[in-house]
Amino acid sequence: MNKDIATPVRTKDILKKYGFSFKKSLGQNFLIDTNILKKIVSFADLTQESGVIEIGPGIGALTEQLARTSKKVVAFEIDQRLLPILNDTLSPYPNVKIIHNDVLEADVAEVMKEEFNDIDNVMVVANLPYYVTTPIIMKLLEEHLPIRGIVCMLQKEVADRISAKPGTKDYGSLSIAVQYYTEAETVMIVPKTVFVPQPNVDSAVIRLTRREQPAVAVTDESFFFQVTRASFAQRRKTLLNNLTSQLPEGKQKKEDILQALSASGIDPTRRGETLSLEEFGRLSEALYPFFH
Ligand code: SAM
Repeated sequence: MNKDIATPVRTKDILKKYGFSFKKSLGQNFLIDTNILKKIVSFADLTQESGVIEIGPGIGALTEQLARTSKKVVAFEIDQRLLPILNDTLSPYPNVKIIHNDVLEADVAEVMKEEFNDIDNVMVVANLPYYVTTPIIMKLLEEHLPIRGIVCMLQKEVADRISAKPGTKDYGSLSIAVQYYTEAETVMIVPKTVFVPQPNVDSAVIRLTRREQPAVAVTDESFFFQVTRASFAQRRKTLLNNLTSQLPEGKQKKEDILQALSASGIDPTRRGETLSLEEFGRLSEALYPFFH
C-alpha cells in the first residue's frame, strides 16, 4: 500500500515541495491524522461498489482513504493551486476524478449522471470548508440529488444546531431544514490538533442519512421553510407574534394565523423552539390556504 498522505511529515513535505501557502478565505485546514480519516470513512459505510462525492480534497488526505474503500471518487476543488499537487499525490488512484470548480456553482446532478452511471450507491464525504458549510449542505439536500447521505466534518457549533432536538437551545430552522430531508446525528467530536493549520473552533463529524420521503408531507416546501424561519425570527417571541410579524401582509393576518394554529392544535403562546417537525408540517399546511 502507498504511504498515507495524512501524516504530519508527509503533509509538510508535500506543502514544501509545492511552496503551498494556506488560504484562510477558502477554509483550508488540512487533516494530518490517518486514524481520524479512517473513522470518518467508516461512518460512510462504503463498499467496493460505492461512489463518493468529495468536496474540497485539499492535498488528497481524505480522498486517498476514500479511493481505497470505494469504487470511484469524484472531488470538487475550488483552488487551482491544488490541482498539480492532487495530480501528484493521487497518482496511485486511477478511480479518482478531480473537478476544478466551486461546488456551489457546479451542476452536481449532471456530474453524477456522467460519472456514476453504473453506480447507484453514492455518498458525499467531506471535511468541509467552514466558511460555507451550511450553503453546501443545503444545496446538496435541496437539489434532491440521488445520494444515500452525507458524512462531513464541520464546526461543532453547526453540527449541534443541525442535529438538535425540539426544546433545546440549538434547535432552530437549520435543524428543521436538514432533518426534513435526513436523519441527522453527530458521530464524532474532533480535536483541533489533527489539522494544519489548526482552526479557531471545535469540530465534529455528522452523518446525514437521506430519508426515502421527507419527514413530513407538505404542499409547498418553500412555504414550509418560510413558516419555520418565521417561527424562529425572534426566539423569545411567541409563535403567534413571530408569524404575525414575519409572514406576508394579509387583510386579516392575525385572525388567519390564529385560525390555522387552532386548526392544527397548536397553542399560539408556544415558542417555535418547542414544535416538532410534525407540528411544523401541520401548521404549514393549515396556514398555506391563507397565503396563496
Ligand atoms: N479534504 C482536505 C483534508 O481533509 O485535509 C481539505 C479540507 S479543507 C477543510 C477544505 C477544502 O475545500 C480546501 O481544499 C479548499 O480549497 C476547498 N474549498 C473551499 N471552498 C470550496 C468550494 N466552494 N468548492 C469546492 N472546494 C472548496
